[in-house]
Amino acid sequence: MSRFLSKSGQALLPYTPGEQPKGRKFIKLNTNESPYPPSPNVAKAILAGFEESDGTDPAPPEIANLRLYSDPEAKPLVKAIADYYGVEPDQVIVGNGSDEILAFAFRAFCDKESPLLAADITYGFYPALCGLLDIPYRTAALKDDFSVDTEDYKGCGCNCIIANPNAPTGMALPLSAIEEILAANQGQVVMVDEAYVDFGCESAVSLLKRYENLVVIQTFSKSRSLAGGRVGFAIAGKELIADMNRVKYSFNPYNVNRLSMLAAAEAMKDREYTKLCCERICGTRERTAQGLRELGFKVLDSRTNFLFVKSNSMGGKAYFDGLRENGILVRRWDADRIGEYLRVSIGTDEEMEEFLAVTKRLLSDREARG
Ligand code: PMP
Repeated sequence: MSRFLSKSGQALLPYTPGEQPKGRKFIKLNTNESPYPPSPNVAKAILAGFEESDGTDPAPPEIANLRLYSDPEAKPLVKAIADYYGVEPDQVIVGNGSDEILAFAFRAFCDKESPLLAADITYGFYPALCGLLDIPYRTAALKDDFSVDTEDYKGCGCNCIIANPNAPTGMALPLSAIEEILAANQGQVVMVDEAYVDFGCESAVSLLKRYENLVVIQTFSKSRSLAGGRVGFAIAGKELIADMNRVKYSFNPYNVNRLSMLAAAEAMKDREYTKLCCERICGTRERTAQGLRELGFKVLDSRTNFLFVKSNSMGGKAYFDGLRENGILVRRWDADRIGEYLRVSIGTDEEMEEFLAVTKRLLSDREARG
């Protein structure tokens, strides 16, 4: 900290991103990225954009002409998202990752007098963002089995955010439970963070027709393999989207760059490819879960591209360190109730076979040592 950092800057509790390793080659199962590349149409569209742009004539917005600012309304991308979900373009806003969308939504709907409620075990960026934006952050404890107690949210009297499926547990609520919360909180905004929805959970977008207090937030980082493109979006009623645009135009009007906009629009249109990747990842997930259960692990029921797992014989820290020494990076939080668990992103079949082989070795080494 420099001596110039403001008092409020000193009070921030920033989010710690997962390690991005340099040098040594790891099997990287620590930030829930896709193990597969983006749709082949993504690279084609970007390259075509460069070919067509000679840098002199003003190029149409769908061309990757970096001389020009990006379209602040991100029209082609917004249209691709609206078409995919069967909503109007004015019900969609896009952002630089869904982290930015979360910031727009929190800033639009919450403030000192309008707190935010979330689960005690959920995405760690929510409290960090509330700290930045001076929003009181309240938590509701997950049940002992890590499921969400919907009673905590019904009539809670404040805005709330529910990651569905939740992270890092991977567990999901049925749509009927989300609807009950929406129905009981019509005077408040209910944000549903669906970062992992494509891996086996139902989206709440279908509820938008009936609930004007709903904001659905999604990302291109997981099922569409564009974590490095940094694109996220929200779908909601057009008034709520207009509210979020007030924040966006007060903060970063050209928030999605041209290349990412092109990439995300193509990724959204290639439904078959996304479906194929998700099916593959879910298959690998179930095989990995089965393998771990056979080794005596507790594995929570995941509807995501990761598993939340606990060994019945090896401590969380020892398991994490053992994997790391063997070239496998996963994520662990030294926190109440979850310190013995690891979150393991789903990689390719080969990567997960190696992960299981290393796990077996670590367990037998422990047994041998007694
Ligand atoms: N929500 C949840 C629940 C997440 O796990 C993540 C990714 N770590 C995000 C939102 C943000 O994703 P991105 O900013 O890459 O869209």
